[in-house]
Amino acid sequence: MQNFSERYKSHILLEEIGVQGQKRLKSSRILIVGAGGLGSPVALYLAAAGVGKIGIVDFDNVDVSNLQRQILYNDNDVGKSKTEVAKERIEKLNSQTKFIAYNERLSKSNALKILKNYDIVVDAADNFQTRYLVNDACALIGIPDVWASVYKFEGQISVFDAKKGACYRCFHPIPPKPGTVPSCGESGVFGAITGIVGSMQACEVLKVITAAGNPLIGRLLYFDGLNMTAKEFKIAKDNNCSLCGTNSSIKELVDYDEFCHINEFSENEITPNELNVRLKSGKNIQLIDICEENEKHDLNSPKSLSVTLNNIGFLKEKLNPKRETIFICKYGYKSIYAIRLLKELGYKGKMCSLKGGTNKYSVITAG
Ligand SMILES: [Zn+2]
Repeated sequence: MQNFSERYKSHILLEEIGVQGQKRLKSSRILIVGAGGLGSPVALYLAAAGVGKIGIVDFDNVDVSNLQRQILYNDNDVGKSKTEVAKERIEKLNSQTKFIAYNERLSKSNALKILKNYDIVVDAADNFQTRYLVNDACALIGIPDVWASVYKFEGQISVFDAKKGACYRCFHPIPPKPGTVPSCGESGVFGAITGIVGSMQACEVLKVITAAGNPLIGRLLYFDGLNMTAKEFKIAKDNNCSLCGTNSSIKELVDYDEFCHINEFSENEITPNELNVRLKSGKNIQLIDICEENEKHDLNSPKSLSVTLNNIGFLKEKLNPKRETIFICKYGYKSIYAIRLLKELGYKGKMCSLKGGTNKYSVITAG
């Protein structure tokens, strides 16, 4: 066994950590939700710092496009389970860290069972359902949620500890409508930003465990990597918060897909195969590509018309409600949002969205 004081000498020298703080790290149990761009640096720094037990929840396999930022993985890991690779990597980094891999999706049914074995949860996920689930479960159990999110060159980070300050619901009581907030895969993200923001999350976790400094409770740090500036915002606890307010209505976990309207338009979704059948049948469909100004999703169909979400109002006048309209976009979120907007505008024609977007479609048709 390596010498404790030798291995962690640089921590022990710090007045704010010392031997006592290092021992606290050794006996601490941290759960990381999401083994991606943020989860990678969090796991590596926590293991290196001597955290005694680390759990990681993720159901995904390593994709080649992850390697640009998800530094737990390398070329040889493509196709492997993220949590299994993470376990191997962390155990090599620090054999004294007990690592638990949860190769599953965090859900209403398993969240409390998993989270109650930990002292702090790191929310390194990239979707709103998981964000609300982690926040609610942490508040119900009474442990802090170290949250962050990244977008292009920007990051946001805060510590939601409902016992001492605001929770995520105080900050965002209502989730955004699906399709309105793009994921990293849709908008792009600068790899090093996930490294910086994930390292900040690790920093907050270590501070909370050792009681060093001032954690970001009731505060949000906004980081702009393109201009290298940071701003701090106060997040006040909302006494009317449905979760942590004085008359809270949420006493147990809810259905987060429903809360975030994830399946609201699922009956409007068609699979890539269904799209192929429709395209080949020569049926009189209207194919609309929902795109940004500078992108186009080529399905090799001369029929497709490209429209931005801002121009949906104009599109309504052009569409023939007697013909079926099929919306496509890269990931299948904006196309759903287009359906929502047109319904709100009173359009009555039949509408479908390509499930998983052209991203999935091209994989299937190529394979
Ligand atoms: Zn709250």
